[in-house]
Amino acid sequence: MTDLLFISPVFKRMIWGGNRMRDIYGYDIPGEDTGECWAISAHENGDDTIVGGEFDGWKLSELYAKHQELFGDGKKKFPLLVKIIDAKTDLSVQVHPDDAYAAVNENGSFGKTECWYILDCDKDATIIIGHNAKSKEELADMIKNNRWDDLITPRPIKKGDFFQIEPGTVHAIKGGTLILETQQSSDITYRLYDYGRLQNGKPRQLHIEKSIDVINCPHKDVLSACKKSRKEDAEIEELVDCKFYKVWKTDVNGKVSFEAPSTYRLFSVLEGKGKINGLEIKKGQHFIMPLGYGAYTLEGDLSIINSEAK
Ligand code: ZN
Repeated sequence: MTDLLFISPVFKRMIWGGNRMRDIYGYDIPGEDTGECWAISAHENGDDTIVGGEFDGWKLSELYAKHQELFGDGKKKFPLLVKIIDAKTDLSVQVHPDDAYAAVNENGSFGKTECWYILDCDKDATIIIGHNAKSKEELADMIKNNRWDDLITPRPIKKGDFFQIEPGTVHAIKGGTLILETQQSSDITYRLYDYGRLQNGKPRQLHIEKSIDVINCPHKDVLSACKKSRKEDAEIEELVDCKFYKVWKTDVNGKVSFEAPSTYRLFSVLEGKGKINGLEIKKGQHFIMPLGYGAYTLEGDLSIINSEAK
């Protein structure tokens, strides 16, 4: 049997970040403005390290390149990136390109499809998804004339909500929100509006022309599947099944057994503690179950977000 690959994440300080990841998950964060935990990542801007076992100290990118037998999907790069985002204040209003646009305009990078599971949020927290422009012309006019209140309508959110964000979708995570994000492994963001904020005395760069290029007009919401089922002592909720990934939540209250997965599988323990095939696991841990690990049993009180790449 192949060991689980436990991950030591990379953390990122951000102008909008906070310190909740220390309080909630006990992480050794680098500052009181820690915005992102790259929990499972092989991206060059935040390449995680394997902890323990045969591959202790390896970078995930190196492991993926040299030990395909643990993954088996043979892509150029590890395809997914799982983050926890602690937004103390608002993130910029932004949009991501798709694979085709990124390949041509961003040196062959992946585009970015992403999805959000709301881990926690303030009572009056909101989020931005989509916009109100009916055409590209109206969109360009609203942006160039700073008509942000006409263009964007924040929507209320609550803990446990889930959103799929397709490329070309205007979006922003707003302050008071803690999110688990599963996405294509890409760091390409076009910033449309940053509320006039300054970082080190200067506004952050905006990417207006590229944003207008890629924004879908008019916006259409993607309705998530969210299919719930029960298996032994677990409730399983399929959150999304799209072109790039499948994401689901597993809540265990007792014991549940699964057959050997047909590909490698990502785990982020959100709540509780328990065991996987007898090995103790707890809240805040992230690991990859490699291809060939085999059948497994989860025991205890556990809430887990799982994903698989496609
Ligand atoms: Zn995004």
